[in-house]
Amino acid sequence: MEEINIENTVDLIHKNQAVFFSSQITLSSAFRVKKLKKLLKTIVQKEKEIHQALFKDLRKSSFESMTSETIFVEKEIRKMIQLLPSWSRPQRVQSSLLNFPSRDYIIPEPYGKTLLISPWNYPFQLAITPLVGAVAAGNTVVLKPSEFAPNTAKIINEIIAEVFEPEHVTVLEGNVSMATALLKKRWDYIFFTGSTSVGKIVAKAAAEHLTPTTLELGGKSPCVVDASAPIKTTAKRIVWGKFLNCGQTCIAPDFLLVDQKIKAELTQQIIKEIQKAYGEDQSLSADYGRIIHEKHLSRLKDYLHGQNIVFGGNIAQDSLYFGPTIVDEPALESPLMKEEIFGPILPIVSYESEQHLHEILENGERPLAFYVFSKKNKFVNSLFSKYSFGGGVANDSIIHFANDNLPFGGIGNSGMGAYHGKHSLVLFTHKKPVVKRSFWFDLPGRYAPYPKSLSFLKFLIKNL
Ligand code: NAD
Repeated sequence: MEEINIENTVDLIHKNQAVFFSSQITLSSAFRVKKLKKLLKTIVQKEKEIHQALFKDLRKSSFESMTSETIFVEKEIRKMIQLLPSWSRPQRVQSSLLNFPSRDYIIPEPYGKTLLISPWNYPFQLAITPLVGAVAAGNTVVLKPSEFAPNTAKIINEIIAEVFEPEHVTVLEGNVSMATALLKKRWDYIFFTGSTSVGKIVAKAAAEHLTPTTLELGGKSPCVVDASAPIKTTAKRIVWGKFLNCGQTCIAPDFLLVDQKIKAELTQQIIKEIQKAYGEDQSLSADYGRIIHEKHLSRLKDYLHGQNIVFGGNIAQDSLYFGPTIVDEPALESPLMKEEIFGPILPIVSYESEQHLHEILENGERPLAFYVFSKKNKFVNSLFSKYSFGGGVANDSIIHFANDNLPFGGIGNSGMGAYHGKHSLVLFTHKKPVVKRSFWFDLPGRYAPYPKSLSFLKFLIKNL
């Protein structure tokens, strides 16, 4: 699409959504529930096509597509349908005696027109989950999916066009030009999932209009393994979390920090677990994905320069295959240890003492996820309280994502704001406080000329 066409398209949708939102139709929770039910039905009907699109874009197995994409979204929609009726009602709260007599409420109101920008790694789930939250809270939505997962973007577009009027929810496919045109407009909420660098561009654009923004970003998520961790289960769970979706998971363990006493044994067990999961030749495994794009394959290839590869390192450029790879003791200043890997390379760094471990951890930005494998509860708790991170798991990886009672989001460089389940409703809703006063009574001394003595005022403030 030419630039001028993009701007015209964005302009029209933006105007139409403003009119639609002003009609107040989305304030009705029955309307929202009806739409969510239709969305759920359509997704269930088209599950096979969604899985096919995910296979074309990322060579995702149906099992992974189901567990990490469609089932997750379907569960989220069901949860919203269940929560919505009570959520959307005004909530009466205790009044202040200073305002006596009054009735005080929090009225949940949608922000208005929301813009969602999503990435390519879980291209269905990461586009639809925030959309479900935004719609459930009564907003209109423009969704721009990633151009790097074009087959998934197409099926998302078809589903949304079947379920919603475009002035309510619409998908605008496109690349950076489309995202840039969208970001020039004034939105009432922006929800962005992607890299930290683009997150900063989004935050700047949002600041122009003082638009509240959620940034779901990435970073380097450390995985600490102490000497008490059972090697076999630890290795199995790390391999699963690291190589799921070919390592292209925002909350994948980025690198291991292992007590030097168990490093050799753990490394050997990780290799065994890779072979158990994906076979001797992992390129033949139906369960092992591919890198999204040549650009990302080259980026990952560059990380391996000068590194000590103790397993893998096999790459097939034409089929975008990048085998599970283990790097032993990379220099902490190397790009592999400075940048988010976001691919199937697992660096293993050993630590000699707890002090050494802290020296390494203290150097990093606040990560999206933090993992510890240890049988020592005290050690786990000390790390969980000392470090700040988006979400943490002891003795496993990734799984916190699956519990919608937990807010999902980052902190600092890994983002701001959190969603999933009820947290999505909270995120996409403005809590509007309202006080309804009565005409019949005023506290004495409220109006000027004020009383000379402040003792009655002091008494009131202390006791009310
Ligand atoms: P990206 O930042 O390159 O792209 C994300 C989206 O932003 C895409 O839709 C893209 O078209 C758009 N975009 C790209 N350049 C833009 C620009 N200059 N202005 C406006 N929009 C622009 O990220 P990606 O490569 O799609 O995804 C990988 C990153 O996302 C990793 O850092 C990963 O950790 C992170 N991620 C985070 C989460 C999370 O939930 N926190 C989930 C998945 C991925």
